[in-house]
Amino acid sequence: MIVLRAFRTELDLTNRQKTACLRHSGAARYAYNFGLARKLEALQAGEKVPTAFDLHRQLVGLKKTELAWMYEVSKCAPQEALRDLDCAFAHFFRRVNEKRAGRKIKVGFPRFKSKKNGSASFRLYGSIYVFAKAIQLPRLGRLRLKESDYLPVSGVRILNATVSQKGGRWFVSLQAETELPSHQISDKPTAGLDLGISRMVQVSDGTYFENPRSLKSTLTKLKRLQRVVSRRQKGSANRKKAVQLLMKAHAHVTNIRKDALHKATTSLARTKSAIVMEDLNVSGMMKNHRLAQAIADVGMYEFRRQLTYKSAWYGCQVFLANRFFPSTKRCSQCGQVKDNIGLGEREYHCEYCGILVDRDLNAAINLEQLLDKTTASSAESYACGERVRPDFPGNAQRSRNQTSICLA
Ligand SMILES: [Zn+2]
Repeated sequence: MIVLRAFRTELDLTNRQKTACLRHSGAARYAYNFGLARKLEALQAGEKVPTAFDLHRQLVGLKKTELAWMYEVSKCAPQEALRDLDCAFAHFFRRVNEKRAGRKIKVGFPRFKSKKNGSASFRLYGSIYVFAKAIQLPRLGRLRLKESDYLPVSGVRILNATVSQKGGRWFVSLQAETELPSHQISDKPTAGLDLGISRMVQVSDGTYFENPRSLKSTLTKLKRLQRVVSRRQKGSANRKKAVQLLMKAHAHVTNIRKDALHKATTSLARTKSAIVMEDLNVSGMMKNHRLAQAIADVGMYEFRRQLTYKSAWYGCQVFLANRFFPSTKRCSQCGQVKDNIGLGEREYHCEYCGILVDRDLNAAINLEQLLDKTTASSAESYACGERVRPDFPGNAQRSRNQTSICLA
């Protein structure tokens, strides 16, 4: 099986290389904004909207006169930016159609890219070579890597490389095609997963993955830095400095979280044959404003994303339980469903069979039990290719019988 994989690692750039990278991202941003302006003009005049190909030709024409500075950067950077713009428009029109068809979504028109938000990125293709301690890119030459032997030196076909800057650090991300061995039907165990805020992942076999300890203290720091920014006068140099510190702290939190997520998802995808987890309540998530909760939500998305693609590598199947499956309210031993279980109750106590079990573990076991039902018996509960959206508002009793599980 051939899969597309991304490899991302930090660059160790000299000042001259940083300048060259900023110039490339500047050219990419210029091309994107140039293209967006031309497309808008055409839309307003009711003319045919120019494609990335048309726009690139216009840019090349301008290079001879007013855009001579563009000769200093690889032609890939503006070209790829224009392709991204085409994608952004395609995405926009697709969302418009979905909204017309009745889906309740917000549709945003592609926006101009600003230099002010501090991030920079551009994509290159063509002759890209990886060495143990460096990567060679068109026009930029050899760039040193902070971590050696992480990027694949052989056995992959590199499609493109994206260079980006975040929180003052530079990264390169490679997209590569790589061959994976095919997987036989395995005798690995199955598992149910309960994702939470206090404990990152509880597995139905009793093991769990804790939230990284450094996360909490970094969150406190983040709050403090946010206050500092809001106290500084708008447009002042001190505010700029404070914003830079805040962005750095944000990137740090993301990294801690991502690292923990990667460790958990890799371990699970490798050791399990099938995994059930809860579907996520998207509209419910948008409502909460608490920092820790918001970050945990982002983590849940990221967890599912990582688990899904890694499972494909290691031959593990991922299932999503119906959102209304009462995984926390149901007793994993006798199947009785409670009306309510308070947020503070850390243990599940069943009045019918007398079992006393950790709340998250109980939920994880319930989720795993869904798998037995789906794989063993009823074909109809397995039959849904699309996500099930039951229209009854959270009726636990009814949804208990509806063990609709979806293939992720
Ligand atoms: Zn019970």
